[in-house]
Amino acid sequence: MLGLMQNWPLTVDKILDHAKSWHGDREIVSRSVEGPVVRTTYAEVHARAKRLSNALKGLGVQPGDRVATLAWNTARHIEAWYGIMGIGAVCHTLNPRLFAEQLCYIINHAEDKVLFTDLTFLPVLLEHRAQMPTVKHVIVMTDEAHMDPAAYPGALCFETLLAENSADCVWGDFDENTAAGLCYTSGTTGNPKGVLYSHRSNFIHTLVTMGQDVMGLSATDTVLPVVPMFHANAWGLAFSCSAVGAKLVMPGMKLDGASVYELLESEAVTFSAAVPTVWQMLLAYMRETNSRPSTLQRVVIGGSAVPEALVRAFRDDYGVSVTHAWGMTETSPLGTLATPTGKIAKMSPEEQLRFTLKQGRPPIGIELKLVNDAGERLPHDGTTFGRLMVRGPFVVGEYFKGDGGEILDEEGYFDTGDVATIDEYGFMQITDRAKDVIKSGGEWISTIEIENLAVGHPKAALCAVIGAAHPKWDERPVLLVKLEPGVDATKEEFLAFLEGKIAKWWTPDDVVFVDDIPLGATGKIDKKLIRERMKGYVLPTAAPAKATA
Ligand code: ADP
Repeated sequence: MLGLMQNWPLTVDKILDHAKSWHGDREIVSRSVEGPVVRTTYAEVHARAKRLSNALKGLGVQPGDRVATLAWNTARHIEAWYGIMGIGAVCHTLNPRLFAEQLCYIINHAEDKVLFTDLTFLPVLLEHRAQMPTVKHVIVMTDEAHMDPAAYPGALCFETLLAENSADCVWGDFDENTAAGLCYTSGTTGNPKGVLYSHRSNFIHTLVTMGQDVMGLSATDTVLPVVPMFHANAWGLAFSCSAVGAKLVMPGMKLDGASVYELLESEAVTFSAAVPTVWQMLLAYMRETNSRPSTLQRVVIGGSAVPEALVRAFRDDYGVSVTHAWGMTETSPLGTLATPTGKIAKMSPEEQLRFTLKQGRPPIGIELKLVNDAGERLPHDGTTFGRLMVRGPFVVGEYFKGDGGEILDEEGYFDTGDVATIDEYGFMQITDRAKDVIKSGGEWISTIEIENLAVGHPKAALCAVIGAAHPKWDERPVLLVKLEPGVDATKEEFLAFLEGKIAKWWTPDDVVFVDDIPLGATGKIDKKLIRERMKGYVLPTAAPAKATA
């Protein structure tokens, strides 16, 4: 027997409809790519997004067509998202930090028909124009005054298209399983693969992530999403902030400490979200200038593990609470958050910190399990390492165009490629990417844990741990350290710093000081490149003993 409630398809255009109707005058403030800080409202964004929908229809965009965006976080980017998705076209977010060759691969694979771009990216687009044959129109997200016909001959102007089209456009009216967005994984192994979100998956992700124990967003919040809309959907904030009517502050292309701080203060931001490196830059700026945030209450940090020093600095020096989050492109992206349970909330701040440093627990809609290589379930005892598997209504079912084949196990779980533990409180902790974990004498060593401890050394700017071949143990850890500018340090200093904090057999066999620790396009340490650079490296503990004369 079916229920008799209304059929109200969960399509994301309804989110912006709601924002217009009930929070119409709530502001969206952007640091524009042209320079000045500009202000608009949900009502204006709604009307402009509808104009854009009509413009896209005029350019021949049909339901299901892919329309790409290559853009920073601004109100115009939000208008493009809703304008595309509202008419059943698919918004394909492109990550400008990818190499041009990867961008071309992705654009061709997605068969993008129209491409929205910020002024910033016109040179690279022009240079590779011939390699993007499917792209029929390029729309520059600016006004006539900033259009330079020579920068990209034939490009269309965003503001002109808006002026030429009416705001009278019907949105939605299609199946909630219709594709809404497309985002490619960064392709650290093989070619990038496309994750094709549906309206329904985005809508459910929005409802889940608004919740108090997840992002905990409210109409009274002012939110600064530093996390880019081009990677993992800005953690859903363009949807969830519209859904609750939070004021949005969009940082544009300036993500340095000074620029982020300026917006935090000038717009009285209460909540922000970003990867650890952004927060490190902000903290460095605040220390240098002896400034402190006056309205900021909470930051969500994810994308890579949060170092303890970062949580302590926010909590103890600035009174800002940190929520650690884990997720991936394939999970829309939020998967777990380290918000306290009733039991944890009763613990002392020091005890609670132990849980904040873990990646956290799943909200409703995310199911997790740990398995061994044979696919058998492992206990949630906080110490057993296993492959982290996930399923739920906003988790990938298959990649775009079937790339990678069957990606779910027989129970419908997706293998995240992460290795993790889950403790008796239900808190998951990522110990490694499966491909980075060090296997020493048959036991696993977590590179992430060592890195996060080592980076707490006052002389360390960035640390990475990789496995190096060892004749007896298969692999042993090597710690690579990029020092703060102008300081010297010794291997012994770092090893002494780690002593007592990790198991003895986890202690790196060597410490190598390097000028650079490379980061990939999504801000994570690029271990593949580090391993390439360290190809000829031999562990001192593995080198054959020198012959004595
Ligand atoms: P990519 O496209 O590079 O895979 P994602 O953002 O989808 O970009 O990356 C997801 C991966 O990032 C996760 O599988 C995990 O390895 C890592 N990750 C995300 N958040 C965290 C976190 N809080 N701690 C540790 N690793 C994390």
